[in-house]
Amino acid sequence: MTIQRPKGTQDLLPGTVEQWQYLEETIRTVCQAYGYEEIRTPMFEATELFQRGVGQTTDIVTKEMYTFLDKGDRSMTLRPEMTASVCRAYVENKLYGQPQPVKLYYMGPMFRYERPQSGRFRQFHQFGIEVLGADQPVVDAEVISLVWNLYQRLGLTQLEVHVNSVGCPTCRAEHRKQLQEFLTLRQGELCNDCQERFERNPLRILDCKNPSCQALTTGAPTTHDTLCEDCRTHFERVLVLLGAAGVVYRVNPRLVRGLDYYTKTAFEVMVEEIGAQSAICGGGRYDRLVEEIGGPPTPGIGFAMGLERVLAALQVQHQLPEEKPRLFAMLIALGEKAQNEGFALLSALRSQGMSVSMDLLGRSLKTQLKAANRQGAQIALILGEEELAQNLLLMRDLTSGEQIEIPLTEAVEEIKKTYQRGV
Ligand code: ATP
Ligand code: MG
Repeated sequence: MTIQRPKGTQDLLPGTVEQWQYLEETIRTVCQAYGYEEIRTPMFEATELFQRGVGQTTDIVTKEMYTFLDKGDRSMTLRPEMTASVCRAYVENKLYGQPQPVKLYYMGPMFRYERPQSGRFRQFHQFGIEVLGADQPVVDAEVISLVWNLYQRLGLTQLEVHVNSVGCPTCRAEHRKQLQEFLTLRQGELCNDCQERFERNPLRILDCKNPSCQALTTGAPTTHDTLCEDCRTHFERVLVLLGAAGVVYRVNPRLVRGLDYYTKTAFEVMVEEIGAQSAICGGGRYDRLVEEIGGPPTPGIGFAMGLERVLAALQVQHQLPEEKPRLFAMLIALGEKAQNEGFALLSALRSQGMSVSMDLLGRSLKTQLKAANRQGAQIALILGEEELAQNLLLMRDLTSGEQIEIPLTEAVEEIKKTYQRGV
């Protein structure tokens, strides 16, 4: 049996990788425009970090983590998300001692043991940001507007931006009470997961994807109904600022993030066209998380965006650049002597930043010219024994077929001129 890649993982081959690079570059440009700096943390962390930082009762921690014992019998986990790691790094590197807020972004692979399907992988990639050390509504608005602007720049349309406030521990206690009262009589009809959630975390019942649970919770009290004065003012400010930034959003009182340390703003972005896994971005405020993992009380807000899903959306909306970067020149050296000379020229051209290839299979002139055309090269540089004897090089424009002779001693200069002019 041949060895295959693990289920739920992907090989990204040339042709596809360029699309990733385009997306990554656009993301970096937007992050820079907003004054965010990149952070890179380890691919694995102590398991406890995610148990505390993501939450014991979440799907991620209960069923999706890649956890293993290392040779020192320590429990390690491949990161399923980055917020916990970023908060750990913030505490461990005492970033709270720097001017606040700290505005960070990250990009990279995450790992979750899930049932692979369209838009759902076991190794997938997220771009995300975290702002630590600022609790003002303007931060929430900046974060959401960054997402919005990135999608605008990418040309994505048909977006649904849902925004909500889940309140703080104070107003959530009241909501929890009201929600449990509302659901008491229907408790038996909830799905198994929701029956468990009823005591532990009833808020998450509002978020259940099961249609019958959704029907049962129609008209249920939402977090919205019980917001305290502080949370309500905060939320209203966020909405005003989002309007000012031109973000088109919808308030969705059913949108929840069901952990104790999630507070106030929660948001999600959906693109229905990409199918069942339509959420391309999710985020919110977590004013108690840094404390939860042992740091000083520090407000935080962030989001994570699934890059496979963003690319899928760009694909269905025909927003991906078609162009592959083109080869500038193909060097065709015939015979050993010409190859020696050609190899030196190749280095010189490449070190000047031109993209040049040379035949590595010892093929004939005709075959090499064909290959050059297939690779989209703009010019061919031909060096045969005859040319070499006269210290010459042929430069052929592969579009027009025009060909000129240039002295070998001036080759680099001449070719560079052509390169700068563009053929
Ligand atoms: P879902 O409800 O789809 O499982 P989630 O709530 O688990 O999403 P988050 O943990 O908030 O997702 O992650 C943020 C984003 O990362 C999601 O909106 C999605 O775009 C992407 N994402 C999450 N899990 C996967 C996965 N297994 N494969 C691909 N993308 C994913
Ligand atoms: Mg999930």
